[in-house]
Amino acid sequence: MKAHRIDGKAISDQIKAEAAWEAQKLQRQGIVPCLAVILVGEDPASKVYVNNKKKACEAVGILSRSYVLPADTEEKELLDLVAQLNADEGVHGILVQLPLPPHMDENQVILAIDPKKDVDCFHPWNVGLAQMGQQGFVPCTPAGVMELITRSGYAVEGKRCVVIGRSHNVGKPIAMLLLQANGTVTICHSKTRDLAEICCQADILVSAAGRVHMVTADMVKPGAVVIDVGINRDENGKLCGDVDFDAVCEVAGAVSPVPGGVGLMTVAMLMKNCITAAKLQNGQ
Ligand code: NAD
Repeated sequence: MKAHRIDGKAISDQIKAEAAWEAQKLQRQGIVPCLAVILVGEDPASKVYVNNKKKACEAVGILSRSYVLPADTEEKELLDLVAQLNADEGVHGILVQLPLPPHMDENQVILAIDPKKDVDCFHPWNVGLAQMGQQGFVPCTPAGVMELITRSGYAVEGKRCVVIGRSHNVGKPIAMLLLQANGTVTICHSKTRDLAEICCQADILVSAAGRVHMVTADMVKPGAVVIDVGINRDENGKLCGDVDFDAVCEVAGAVSPVPGGVGLMTVAMLMKNCITAAKLQNGQ
């Protein structure tokens, strides 16, 4: 069997086009959606992510403001900047690119962001609302996973779903969204026994472990939908996911590639959240 290659580019373009249309509507009312992006330090991967987010803003019609701080910035200085952006009515979304340098407390920084401007959906207030299925921001990567599945025409309801990974920002919220969509969900992690056996039962398998080619063909049920969230470098330094793509394509019904899958969706969902933020702050 040769699996359907889920097209993250096409689906993310569709979501960005929808966001662009919403941005134009806001602009006609004199509201220019604006995202402030803060980068602390020189992490090369973070620089690439921030750049991709800025480019997406330009394409969608969202103004982006960049703040680049040196790695040795005091936490107080970062918190002051966040407070200033919270108070700025021209800024609708605030994104602090993670990870922060080790001397900073990420939790304190996330708590400092006004929940109405928390477009990453990392603030506990928004995490709670998302968990309750209430309207507001969507956690970007998890929501991107859901859009990849549903816009490719695969239903979640009644399906056996297995998520590998239980981090606060990725694995757990993916499992929660699959559950909200009426999937029957199992979460696996580094202490899970018989991982392959559990994965083999999945109609929908999502891997967010961050382990090169950990998901092999023998872990996949014939015809399953496999979504690869991992972003890793292989032994040659080439970008790859958690899934052994070519081999898994021989067994699965559909597979999302890396690159070209979830990563693009994360940025698209961020654009959607920026529009939501601009609307929320204008009583819409
Ligand atoms: P993390 O390190 O916080 O969590 C990894 C999870 O995987 C943990 O819960 C751990 O228990 C589990 N795990 C690790 N090794 C395992 C194993 N051998 N068997 C079973 N479970 C195992 O990482 P994270 O922040 O959740 O990110 C996960 C991956 O997703 C990383 O590769 C990251 O780069 C990627 N990521 C991608 C996007 C995107 O936009 N595509 C966004 C965020 C994270």
